Amino acid sequence: MDHFDYILVGGGLQNGLIVRALRARRPAARILLIERAARLGGNHTWCFHEEDVEARSREWLEALVVHRWPGYDVRFPRLRRTIEGVYSAVTSERLHAVVGAEVQDHAASRLLLESEVSDVEAGRVTLRSGETVEGGVVVDGRGPLPPANGSRAGYQKFLGLELQLADAHGLERPLLMDATVDQSEGFRFFYVLPLAPAGLLVEDTYFHQSPALEPDALRRGILSYAASRGWEVRRIVREEVGVLPMPWSGRFVPPRRGPLAAGYRGGWFHPGTGYSFPVAVRLAEFIAGRPPSALFGPQLTRFGRRHARQVLFTHFLNRFLFRWYPPAARHSIFERFYRLPAATIGDFYALRLTSADRFRLLSGRPPSGLSLRYRLGGKD
Ligand SMILES: Cc1cc2nc3c(=O)[nH]c(=O)nc-3n(C[C@H](O)[C@H](O)[C@H](O)COP(=O)(O)OP(=O)(O)OC[C@H]3O[C@@H](n4cnc5c(N)ncnc54)[C@H](O)[C@@H]3O)c2cc1C
Repeated sequence: MDHFDYILVGGGLQNGLIVRALRARRPAARILLIERAARLGGNHTWCFHEEDVEARSREWLEALVVHRWPGYDVRFPRLRRTIEGVYSAVTSERLHAVVGAEVQDHAASRLLLESEVSDVEAGRVTLRSGETVEGGVVVDGRGPLPPANGSRAGYQKFLGLELQLADAHGLERPLLMDATVDQSEGFRFFYVLPLAPAGLLVEDTYFHQSPALEPDALRRGILSYAASRGWEVRRIVREEVGVLPMPWSGRFVPPRRGPLAAGYRGGWFHPGTGYSFPVAVRLAEFIAGRPPSALFGPQLTRFGRRHARQVLFTHFLNRFLFRWYPPAARHSIFERFYRLPAATIGDFYALRLTSADRFRLLSGRPPSGLSLRYRLGGKD
């Protein structure tokens, strides 16, 4: 096989974004993208806040965006709030179409689908078939590893149903959290994305210590939530499932040499949400911003250290949430979080918390949320 500047192992979100960034910044780059499934991107709807990503990255993200809304709502027992700011959705289907065509249409690049990689080394990849390929930078984006034994983490777990309704739902903005539902087993909310006048993606989401998911119960939960909102379901169009780790232990160590573990595989995600989109965009922009021969070095170490500091702080928040707060009280943390200034909420989702944000997150007045007063015996 030819020699490539980049060998991207795993055709998921992270490597899809790296392809987009490379095409924008290094149009001549020779890319080999290898995915074991028949399609790129799996089965996801990825959402992000526009302010999560830098303006220069939005240009190359644009082709992936399928839906866009001017803001979103949250609902808690004692709070209803609309937060302004563009919120966008990218689907696996679009990622497959755009990234797949982008690699295939470039004469010196190549897309391998239904090709499993068995070994990933610096500068070389071995396929299950026994074939080896060599290249400049090898990026290992094979997605999450199974949780290690004894790893300390909570989970954001959800099941989503895309619903075709009999009538228009009338929602103009996503409902990011409807937490006006039973909270006795831990923080739980419904997430509702209006995809079309009579089309919705509804997810039943739990923050829980256990990664176990009960799909039937969640499906029933979604349908009864839809009924409680007066939405008559005509058809279930598709389903997606996620069990996203929210760890509170382990250190993120900036990579010093190849292969570069990226995306979930390399710990490039937000431990406080289990989401990876903003971090994946940043890493894609970083990789594309320098020649392959100059990728490893002090700049990558500094870039990684910035991520490591954010990770460390969000580990602390997770410990607080999952270890120190009784399950039935956890929703109050989020209710308080959504009373904070919109800029702090935005910085939290983008994983770029400043010292002022950290102070606001931790210095609670009633309702206590993350305040140390609660931990020390104060009341909500
Ligand atoms: C249903 C769902 C919804 C989510 N929604 C959001 C969201 O809205 N916003 C957000 O920020 N985050 C979201 N996340 C979290 C996170 O962004 C995703 O999990 C994201 O897909 C992780 O990207 P990744 O590239 O690291 O891994 P993946 O996207 O999982 O990609 C890994 C790819 O590698 C391939 N692969 C694995 N092993 C091999 C092998 N040996 N050889 C070849 N290929 C291989 C896999 O088939 C897969 O395609 C969501 C997660 C899920 C599960």
